[in-house]
This record gives sequence, structure tokens and C-alpha cells, in this order.
Amino acid sequence: MKYDYDVIIIGSGPAGFSCAMQSTKFDKKVLIVEASEENLGGSWINKGTVPSKALRAAAKLIQSFHSQFGDERGRKPFERFRMEDIMDYKRPILESKNKKVKDDIVKNEVDTANGWGKIIDANTVEVFKQGEDTKTYTGKNILVSTGSRPSAPQNVNIDKTKVLDYASILDITHIPRRLVIVGSGIIAFEYATIFAALGTRVTVLSDLSEILPFLDHEIKNAMFKSIQKKNIQIFNNISIENISSNDLRTCEEVLFKTKENNRLQVVETDHVLYIGGKIPNTDNLGLEELGIERDKAGYMKVDGKYRTNVPNIYAAGDVIGYPALASASFLQGRLASCEMFGSKAIAEMSDTSMPYGIYSIPEISGIGLTEEQAEELNIDVTVGRAYYSNLTRADLNHETDGILKLVFRTDNLKLLGVHIFGEQATDMIHLGQSIMAHNDNIKYFIERVLNYPTYTEAYKIAAFNGLNRVHKAGVKYKKILNKS
Ligand SMILES: Cc1cc2nc3c(=O)[nH]c(=O)nc-3n(C[C@H](O)[C@H](O)[C@H](O)COP(=O)(O)OP(=O)(O)OC[C@H]3O[C@@H](n4cnc5c(N)ncnc54)[C@H](O)[C@@H]3O)c2cc1C
Repeated sequence: MKYDYDVIIIGSGPAGFSCAMQSTKFDKKVLIVEASEENLGGSWINKGTVPSKALRAAAKLIQSFHSQFGDERGRKPFERFRMEDIMDYKRPILESKNKKVKDDIVKNEVDTANGWGKIIDANTVEVFKQGEDTKTYTGKNILVSTGSRPSAPQNVNIDKTKVLDYASILDITHIPRRLVIVGSGIIAFEYATIFAALGTRVTVLSDLSEILPFLDHEIKNAMFKSIQKKNIQIFNNISIENISSNDLRTCEEVLFKTKENNRLQVVETDHVLYIGGKIPNTDNLGLEELGIERDKAGYMKVDGKYRTNVPNIYAAGDVIGYPALASASFLQGRLASCEMFGSKAIAEMSDTSMPYGIYSIPEISGIGLTEEQAEELNIDVTVGRAYYSNLTRADLNHETDGILKLVFRTDNLKLLGVHIFGEQATDMIHLGQSIMAHNDNIKYFIERVLNYPTYTEAYKIAAFNGLNRVHKAGVKYKKILNKS
């Protein structure tokens, strides 16, 4: 049977975009269906990754400038800089990213259809747009990459003026003096440090007993030490009782209860940023009608090759759940295309090969086993540490808060994990990732010339530190260096 397209992709975020680009390289005919009238690129460019990182970059510049060059009148950053300055920084970035995605789509001859995509049968997608005739397209394969959206909380009214979510915070018109962030995940923590950098007094209210529980304990300690110096207060293990406006005091009041002792407390703020969970965009997609399986939380079920239970229908990105990151979505979309068009894709998406990046100020990143996990698995590991205060590059940039920690096997020095808190952590992690992917050991960092001064020098210092520990534990240095 002849179809209009080799693949129809519903949703143009990282998963859909990368599937489209890879498919064109296989000389396939591709249609992207996108509901947004304004832009292609999904929440990656327009509501999530890129705008939040642009806000972070501006806040970081302001913080660096303010802390290095002070203010003769003792003003806080929010008294010297305006939100308009930050928006002026962010706007051209988003414009350029949107243009680039559009250009790539045109250059690679991918067709687009604007409207709501709904799967009618295993090879047909209907595109609905208000005021226009519904169009129907056929495809040999279909990829669902419709992403996710913030879940609406039950007891909090997100009015998008005083009480904001991760999309509406991007349109805030001023730098708040006080901000309460309700949430315990990565995005909540990133925004806490971004606004603290602008001088905002930030209170984080988390319903978990600790925030970012998956971090290596030393990384977490270093991070807490660093944020103690900032305007951030964290309350763990709480439940939100009420959020209301106090017109007399012209502020918002957040009433919360500590779970441990049921004590009620109130905090006054200018704005509340509510960062709850996400829900997959699977409504009105035709999934039920076709019997496409989803899990209890509504995420689409796929196998390791991104195939749903209906042949020729694939799903990738946030719509399939964990890890719900742009970084992973790019790879998933590409792998789905490779599977559709019969290429042997060599790529790994296991927990140990996937790094995480937290774009707080400073950054946090990690890959592989933490020291605690290695011990739980009864693997004899040694750790090597490098403190940023010992890095010339960190001195030069006045960014000396940070630590890099290597976790490696004591018997053969094989690298099992890297954990970093500090400037450039999300970039630096990839050197560790390469070494781990090649099953190499920490001697790599000692035996190669690394550019100097760099933050990457931390790998060398940590490797020497780790070898010293093995030596102190009784192994002769010469013997250590002969280990492979
Ligand atoms: C504040 C924030 C910060 C983030 N920071 C990072 C980060 O630093 N690093 C990182 O890796 N990830 C980050 N993420 C996550 C990242 O943005 C998402 O994981 C990623 O965008 C998911 O890509 P996707 O392709 O699955 O879907 P999306 O990017 O959500 O795109 C889905 C697209 O599908 C369209 N669509 C939905 N339904 C239909 C339909 N029926 N018909 C047609 N079109 C439809 C939508 O309009 C949208 O354009 C962040 C997210 C947020 C919210």
C-alpha cells in the first residue's frame, strides 16, 4: 500500500524533531503535525529547557557582575537590574532557536501541518484546526511525541499572576523581592538558585523529607553549604494548607504544616511558584480507540525500541515518562527513527550511562554509581576528590564553590561514577561519561595532558587524590600505576 508519508510525527519537541531529522537522512518522507500556532520546537524551546536556561544565564551574569564589582550604594541586584534587561537577554535566544528549528525543517524538506493531530487508525492521522477543514494524512509509521504539561494542583489556584507555574514564571514583569517555591524537584531547585542570584529572598517548601534525594551525600553537603550563603531557606516534609492574598499587607500568604509535628506556619511572599508534577499529553489523541496501552499515570507504554503495542506506532519523549528530559528525548526520537527504517542504532539508554544535569547556580551533574550505591552493591570502591578551591580556573573566575568526586574500583581503578557540584559541571560530566563508556580507568586523567587552566583539571586532581588513597591503604604506588 502507498502512504502519503513514511512517518507522521505528532509533536515537534526534541523527540519529534530528532525523529524527523534522522528520518530525512534515511531519505524518508516526513510530516510533522504541531498544535502550536506560534512555534515549532515544543516546550523545549518555548516553555521549558531553553527559556529557563536563558533566565539562568542572565541571572548568573548579573550575580557575577554584582558580586565582583559590588554597588557603591549597597543596592541589591533587583534594585540595579530590571526584568526587562533579563527579557532582552532571553528574547533573541528564543527567536534564534525557533528560527533554527524552522530552517532545519525547511532545509530537510520535512512537511508540516498545523493543528491538533489525532490517530484514526494505525496508518492515518487526522489534523483538526478551528475554522478549517479537517485534513487526513496516511503514514507507514506514526510517532507520538506530544510531550507533557504541568499537572494542575488540587488545593492551589494557579492564577498566573501571583501564583505561577513553570510556564507563567517566564512572563513575570519584575524581579520579586520574595518568592515561595512549592516543589522538591530539579526545576524547583534551579529556580530557587536563579532568583536568589537576583537578590530575591527564596523559600522552598518541599513535601519530600529531603530535596534531590538521589544526589551523592558529599555533593549534597557541598551544595547545602553553598546555598546557606544565599537567600534560600528550605522547609522539607511539609504539606501546603492554603495560599491566599492578604490585601492589607499586599502580599500572598502560604500556610503550611510540618508533617513531623503538625505545626502550622505561614510565610509571606510576593509570588508563589508552584512546580508540581507533569502529566503526559495523551488526551484526544485516539489512543483508547486503538487500544494503545498506557501505564497507571497515563504515560504511553513502549518497549526498548520505542514501539507501542500497535505495530508501526511509536512514542518517545515526555509522553513515555521517565526521564522526561530534552536530552533523553533527542536520543529517543532518533532511535525510534532507526528502528522504523531498519538501521542498527548503537546507543545506550541505561541508568548508568545517562548523566543528569541540574542547572542550579552552581550546577550539579552526575553519572554512574554514587559511593553509597557502590557500597550497597558490595563493590570495593575508592573515591578521589578535587575541590574547586584548588583549581586555578575557578580562582580566575571567582567560582571556587565546588567539588568533583570520582568513584572507582579499588582493584583495577575502573571508573564507575562521577559526581560534580560546581561551575561547568553539566559540561564536564561528559569526559567522565566517555571514560566510563569505554570501560577505562582513572589513569586516563593522569596520563594525558589536559588543558590548563580549566575546570576539567579537577579530574586530574581527583584521580591523583584517589590513587593516594589506594596507596595509603597499603598498595605500592608502582603497583597501582601498573594496574590496567
Ligand atoms: C522549566 C523546565 C526546564 C527544563 N529544563 C530542562 C533541561 O535543562 N534539560 C533537559 O534535558 N530537559 C529539561 N526540561 C524538560 C524538557 O523540556 C522536556 O523533557 C522536553 O521538552 C520533552 O520533549 P518532547 O519532545 O517529549 O515534548 P515537548 O517539548 O513538550 O513538545 C511536544 C509538542 O507536541 C505538541 N502537541 C501536543 N499534543 C499535540 C497534538 N495532539 N497534536 C499536535 N501537536 C501536539 C505540543 O504543542 C508541543 O509543541 C525542562 C522542562 C521544564 C518545564
